[in-house]
Amino acid sequence: MSQGTETAEINPARHASQVALVTGASRGIGAACAQALGRAGFKVAVHYRGSEDKALALCEKIPGARPFKADLSDAAACQALIKTVVADMGPIAVLVNNAGISIDQILPFAKPDDFDTLLNTNLKPVFLLSKFVSKGMMRAKSGRIINIASVVGYTGNPGQSMYSSTKGAITAFTKSIAQELGSFGILCNCVSPGFIKTDMTDALPEAAKEGILTKIPLKKLGTPEDVAAAVVFLAGDGAQYITGSTIHVNGGMFTN
Ligand code: NAP
Repeated sequence: MSQGTETAEINPARHASQVALVTGASRGIGAACAQALGRAGFKVAVHYRGSEDKALALCEKIPGARPFKADLSDAAACQALIKTVVADMGPIAVLVNNAGISIDQILPFAKPDDFDTLLNTNLKPVFLLSKFVSKGMMRAKSGRIINIASVVGYTGNPGQSMYSSTKGAITAFTKSIAQELGSFGILCNCVSPGFIKTDMTDALPEAAKEGILTKIPLKKLGTPEDVAAAVVFLAGDGAQYITGSTIHVNGGMFTN
């Protein structure tokens, strides 16, 4: 997290005492981010909600990693998560807001309760966790907040008005906090995945997946590791002059 002009490469030794909290790290993109940050030398706080076995198994693979359980749709649990991670592992240098769900429905049939669930799972925890972590980062005069958005927050997508609005809001939120927190040495950016092979996209019907493939110039789904590579870059020294930005990891799919 140097502010100087030294090498842009990630040096695992430099990050050895730094804590990175990844939310939704039990599966998919979050698990890949946790592993990649561990390889980059961070001490990783592996957050999960229900997939305890997976979170514990992941911690076995990452030296120094510790598991933390919380349902982030509960605001009090968000605050408790930050406090517990700091108490158990030390100040948080990197927060990756990754946990999220999708609920898809065309607008006439969309349920208001589902919209509340999406807001409370995808958006409000990003606000709360960033808020609670920012105080320690301000004291440290350094920190990285990396928010996982989505291509559909940028392009829109039929059937995803509820989900895409939470993701578009994450991008706008990130640009605002980047401007607020920049003078404290805190860098805030988004990684915006396209269609990535995880449990979330495995749930799509085959016909939908085939339709999506025709719109991806690279003609394949991305992998969680593709997204994790961008996260590790934003967490490292090579990104020290980048804030308020979005890295799109989508195989070139900027339309739907
Ligand atoms: P995934 O495989 O379905 O995993 C979702 C993760 O979020 C799990 O670790 C889950 O924890 C956690 N989670 C869900 N609800 C939670 C809650 N209420 N409190 C705490 N944790 C909760 O998802 P993914 O595909 O890796 O997606 C990860 C992120 O990338 C999401 O924000 C998603 O919107 C975004 N994204 C994904 C794609 C894609 O193509 N896959 C594309 C664009 C953006 P447990 O399993 O422990 O309950």
